[in-house]
Amino acid sequence: MNDSDREQDLRGRVRAFCAEHDPAATPRPAFLSARFDAGLAAVHYPVGHGGLGLPRSLQPAADEEFARAGAPKLDERRNVIGLGMAAPTIIAFGNGEQKDRWLKPLWLADEIWCQLFSEPGAGSDLAALATRAVKADGDGGEGDGDEWVVNGQKVWTSIAHQARWGLLLARTDPDVPKHAGLSYFVIDMHQPGVEVRPLRQLTGEAEFNEVFFTDARVPDANRLGPVGEGWKVANATLMNERVSIGNSRSVAREESMIGLAASAWRQQPERRTHELHQRLLALWAEAEVARLAGERLRQQLAAGEPGPEGSAAKLTFARLNQEISGWEVEFGGPDGLSYDDWTMRRSGSSDYARGPGYRYLRSKGNSIEGGTSEILRNIIAERVLRLPQEPRTDTTVPWKDLPR
Ligand SMILES: Cc1cc2nc3c(=O)[nH]c(=O)nc-3n(C[C@H](O)[C@H](O)[C@H](O)COP(=O)(O)OP(=O)(O)OC[C@H]3O[C@@H](n4cnc5c(N)ncnc54)[C@H](O)[C@@H]3O)c2cc1C
Repeated sequence: MNDSDREQDLRGRVRAFCAEHDPAATPRPAFLSARFDAGLAAVHYPVGHGGLGLPRSLQPAADEEFARAGAPKLDERRNVIGLGMAAPTIIAFGNGEQKDRWLKPLWLADEIWCQLFSEPGAGSDLAALATRAVKADGDGGEGDGDEWVVNGQKVWTSIAHQARWGLLLARTDPDVPKHAGLSYFVIDMHQPGVEVRPLRQLTGEAEFNEVFFTDARVPDANRLGPVGEGWKVANATLMNERVSIGNSRSVAREESMIGLAASAWRQQPERRTHELHQRLLALWAEAEVARLAGERLRQQLAAGEPGPEGSAAKLTFARLNQEISGWEVEFGGPDGLSYDDWTMRRSGSSDYARGPGYRYLRSKGNSIEGGTSEILRNIIAERVLRLPQEPRTDTTVPWKDLPR
């Protein structure tokens, strides 16, 4: 079948599904559950696990048909880490049982996911992390041999307070160089050995947390990828994270932050100055180029998994968000400096629609989360432009001998 036939076939399937499950008469959870079972959750998910194994580029055709039929939408913001990072990692590295267990509740946002990577001593240098996972040692107790015991601390863990599952990168072998001694697990956040404490951020709320593990348990069956190959699995998560932060979906012109700035400009002529006009025009053009470049990236992604190119999209996203929200604050004059609410809240996601003050403060984190802008520039330099690598002296020494 060629692309156009496949698209027509897909559109036909969605229409037939909506005819069988009338969106107006079917309760939302039942509709979405049936949609997953029919392989229409996301077209690139595997057959039997919510998808049809088709290229991602066909998803907009399915979305269009669902929208035309008035089908309920998935609230993607409720489970950003689950959808943007956990799902692609499970699809790439999970076995059949793992896909069966996790993908459907993840897609329906019945189970929320968080990412347990960063530590107080390992952020940019993630491979240096120290949280240990040790195989239970066979003293005859329950779960011996097929369980790992986890001790350590993670930090900046977004939505850990809502999460049922965590993507955990842990050290399983301290005697080999840092990248080689890591393994990747899915850990149950609802167990006694996991303590989640809020970290209040610049916006007043606490989207993220510290997470402490004290003899927490994770079954070996929850390991993604082989023991010692956690770095490879983590890279898949990180590449998807960058695409998901910078480029999660197609956006229309002026649908992102630049649209809010442009609409403020249109609505408040009394605040206009020549200088602000020039800057807005330049930002508008850059935002449009970034949007179109993102579209191209998504088309490339349709052919495979994200590579280092996603880093450029994330880098641009962070810079533009900070510059546009800075422009908005300036354009607002004295009102631009006001802030709506410093109440400490345990938010589950960022709400950029809240106002210019919130956008200005929250976007400061954009150049840190998902890899700092400096690190992304290194990745672009080394892996996209193939420039000489930064000197690294710690990649051949056993992790336990590294100075910390
Ligand atoms: C809003 C937000 C949400 C987050 N959510 C999560 C989450 O859910 N899960 C999670 O695991 N983590 C999360 N993080 C953590 C984030 O991934 C880290 O903060 C980030 O990777 C940087 O690590 P660090 O804070 O330890 O800074 P460091 O690595 O200590 O870096 C400090 C500074 O040094 C610079 N630097 C470091 N190394 C180099 C180098 N080689 N070359 C040039 N400059 C360098 C950095 O760019 C940075 O400016 C979140 C962070 C934020 C802000």
